[in-house]
Amino acid sequence: MAKYQEQQLKIHNSLSGKKEKFIPINEGHVGMYVCGPTVYSNVHLGNCRTFMSFDMIFRYLKHLDFKVRYVRNITDAGHLEDDADEGEDKIAKKARLEQIEPMEVVQRYTVDFHTILQKFNFLPPSIEPTATGHIIEQIEIIKEILEHGFAYEINGSVYFDVVKFNKTHEYGKLSGRKLEDMISNTRELTAQDEKRNPQDFALWKKAEPQHIMRWPSPWGDGFPGWHLECTAMSTKYLGETFDIHGGGMDLKFPHHECEIAQSEASHGNAPVNYWMHANMLTMNGKKMAKSTGNNILPNEIFSGENEILSKPFAPSVVRFFMMQAHYTSILDLSNEALLASEKGYHRLMDALGLIDGLTASKSSSIDLAAWKQRCYDAMNDDFNTPVLIAVLFEGVKFINQIKEDKEQISETDLMLLSETMNVFVFEVLGLESPAQLNASSDKIGGVVSLLIQLRNEARANKDFATSDKIRDELAALGIQLMDGKEGTTFSII
Ligand SMILES: [Zn+2]
Repeated sequence: MAKYQEQQLKIHNSLSGKKEKFIPINEGHVGMYVCGPTVYSNVHLGNCRTFMSFDMIFRYLKHLDFKVRYVRNITDAGHLEDDADEGEDKIAKKARLEQIEPMEVVQRYTVDFHTILQKFNFLPPSIEPTATGHIIEQIEIIKEILEHGFAYEINGSVYFDVVKFNKTHEYGKLSGRKLEDMISNTRELTAQDEKRNPQDFALWKKAEPQHIMRWPSPWGDGFPGWHLECTAMSTKYLGETFDIHGGGMDLKFPHHECEIAQSEASHGNAPVNYWMHANMLTMNGKKMAKSTGNNILPNEIFSGENEILSKPFAPSVVRFFMMQAHYTSILDLSNEALLASEKGYHRLMDALGLIDGLTASKSSSIDLAAWKQRCYDAMNDDFNTPVLIAVLFEGVKFINQIKEDKEQISETDLMLLSETMNVFVFEVLGLESPAQLNASSDKIGGVVSLLIQLRNEARANKDFATSDKIRDELAALGIQLMDGKEGTTFSII
């Protein structure tokens, strides 16, 4: 029997605002689409939190024996600086400033994105499609929307007619906005505006001569509007209607609202049964933003090279910290919060290390089966990881009490305890133990020891330039040297 038949999962659906029983379209199968990054800069820590929430959701769905097709795209074209279809393409602008090809920008930051996600122990999605790889599909959808009368062409650009669409459909149902309110709250169109209404959005934009990212289309050379790629890729890989669509809260409007409108206007079906939105990450109580300096990159946390935190923190500690909040709650990052999470993470890992050494008794004084079901109950309740972690810490308490002979456990229950702890900590929450990290770094350990030896020789020769260089370059790679009474040790973070 598949686990999903024994466990009833409930999901908070942003569309209804309610927690609903999860019933997939095809039994045993789940189609999930998550809006990926626009690859024009290093991945933001707040975005990592969103993607980590969906990584955890992907992991739990798989654990429940669902066959999951998880599609997370890469936006490599069409995302303009301003949501109102104005300004430069974010990637083209970066390419212009750095005097490189747009695809070099895309390559550089796609690699950065994957490297950071790997450090956080993400599972790769089933498909990771790109916007530029699906221009033909996007053009086909525009043709359909034009055919159905919900878009208009003007000067080589095509816009979605929101006002006309709203006459027969409901624009704003996901974000809870009413078109009439939107109209009364927006500025009047100026003479230069091509749009019929300020709420209309671009499906295709004409490329000006200086615009380097351009493709031929029935309306002339241009590029697709940002909202369109997700409709094209989700429909192609998951069908006209699929189970779960996720993303950050900030994408609900206009991005996801526009996706719904595009699907309904092209193929006539509501695209998604369960809309899920992950909440923001703040830092020291304030919104994270590059412009205010209240910002930190994941690598700066791992290396300790920042002015915000007192020490480096390992990716698994940051992951544990993020899992301690529900994905729909705002989470605040601070030095104190990370220090507390680090302690909790080590308590959890220490207890896991004790399980194999525990001695079984004839019978159990703890109801292990009930405890195990509470782990599932927490996750079945809209992926409530903070509650799951609290239940896992009851497991930590059991382990310590059994070790001190204050509680007894039978052979079968001991196996159940071990299996359940391991499944939820490693498979579902996606944490890594320090031992797992060290096992992969035996060879690195040898190399670092050699470098420590060379550094000691340099110091003995008063060649501090070389000794500092070795220390600093290792730190940049995430390897910290610590000088103590017994010589130099190191930690890989
Ligand atoms: Zn999207």
